[in-house]
Amino acid sequence: MSRYDTVIIGAGLAGLTSACQLAQANQKVLLVSTGIGALLLASGCIDVLGFQPADSQVPVENPFRKLDDFLAERSDHPYQFVRKENIQTGLESFLSLVNQDSLDYQGKTDHNWLLPSTIGAIHPTCLAPASLANGDLTQGGKILIVGFKELRDFYPTLISDNLNSQDLSVEAAAATLDAPAPITGKMNVTPIELARAFDTVDFRGRVVDAVKKAGRGYSRIGFPAVLGLKQHAQVMADLQKQLGATVFEISTLPPSVPGRRLYEVLKRTLVQANGRLIIGSNVIDGALEDGRITQIRTETVSRPKTIKADNYVLATGGIFGGGIQTDADGQVWESIFRLPVVAEINRHKWFAKNFVSPQGQPVDHFGIKVNEQLNPVDDSNTPLATNLYIVGASIAGAEWTRSRTGDGVAVTTATKAVKQITG
Ligand SMILES: Cc1cc2nc3c(=O)[nH]c(=O)nc-3n(C[C@H](O)[C@H](O)[C@H](O)COP(=O)(O)OP(=O)(O)OC[C@H]3O[C@@H](n4cnc5c(N)ncnc54)[C@H](O)[C@@H]3O)c2cc1C
Repeated sequence: MSRYDTVIIGAGLAGLTSACQLAQANQKVLLVSTGIGALLLASGCIDVLGFQPADSQVPVENPFRKLDDFLAERSDHPYQFVRKENIQTGLESFLSLVNQDSLDYQGKTDHNWLLPSTIGAIHPTCLAPASLANGDLTQGGKILIVGFKELRDFYPTLISDNLNSQDLSVEAAAATLDAPAPITGKMNVTPIELARAFDTVDFRGRVVDAVKKAGRGYSRIGFPAVLGLKQHAQVMADLQKQLGATVFEISTLPPSVPGRRLYEVLKRTLVQANGRLIIGSNVIDGALEDGRITQIRTETVSRPKTIKADNYVLATGGIFGGGIQTDADGQVWESIFRLPVVAEINRHKWFAKNFVSPQGQPVDHFGIKVNEQLNPVDDSNTPLATNLYIVGASIAGAEWTRSRTGDGVAVTTATKAVKQITG
């Protein structure tokens, strides 16, 4: 049986980021995961701090400056353990990791892009693929938003009307087109299908023909985030050249094409750095002896398979990712090592009365309690396993919806754990 330097459990953004960075530091690394996590659902943008205070209607312009206020209010948030200076380092490491390949993420810690969301709200985010960052609303001017009748859940008029009804410097117009062949007339096409079509020269040539007239007079033209999967850079360059305008993408409802591009790049980076990746395998349990994890076991078709390593990174997400489990009796537990979980035991207090509650959902705060080293701890803050590091949405208090800190937590806790492991 081969032994690894580090085994990472979970292939969401936190797990993949940790795995890539460890493999690039010459560690012998295995990443094992049931699935791909929230990457295929989220926008692909890395939110660090979008709203502070959380119920403010005004997006944060400079996340780094607002972090002190945020940390003063959210004593339970994982950024407390990452610390402000490591947040910056974590984001810089992420940029150099993903921009080594075909992606072009843009941004810095002291600035939020203000991007149009799929319903025309404002999404403040720190790092964004250039194609989305091109849609920054603070740049102002006249923008045209183009959609396709065949694409489900993307309504250009809804977006432009909502943008125009806010006090922004952009003036938005909308155009909904019939997608060219081979998409024409199909029902409920997904973003991934459309992105594959954009990868072909013929298809995007026909889109350009259709958009040219409507796009006259607009210096920026926005499309749903479907501008190519494998040929994204080429698609962007072609469209901008042929339309003579800056082209931008607007995130769609899932599946997320920018998230898929990010996943593909991280996967390739991991394999190129000699890391091993197993997707589709469930980790069922692990052994904790004398304050250290000694092994984990994964499900296989015949019998559980034992895997051993010096260090382990737990990146299984929260309730959403499967790292935290609940049942109808109100029990809440961590799914692999049965680590203690911070959770409300009264099930009637798990949810706020309204789905979109200004206070958020209490259940989103559930997670594993950690210390500054990101080791799991018990109620008296004693580390339970010194070679186990908890990253991303599994950490207690990682609730991301209100202040918009989701992938910021994933990326920065991953980099912190890597630092702990590699010294
Ligand atoms: C719809 C949606 C939109 C979002 N939009 C944004 C956004 O625009 N910007 C932003 O910053 N954040 C956004 N977020 C939040 C952000 O995506 C998440 O907070 C973050 O990606 C969590 O990453 P993670 O790696 O910690 O966990 P996850 O992505 O949940 O990954 C957990 C992984 O663990 C694996 N796993 C779980 N249990 C096991 C097991 N027993 N064995 C093996 N593997 C296991 C899962 O298969 C999965 O791969 C969004 C989230 C959602 C759901």
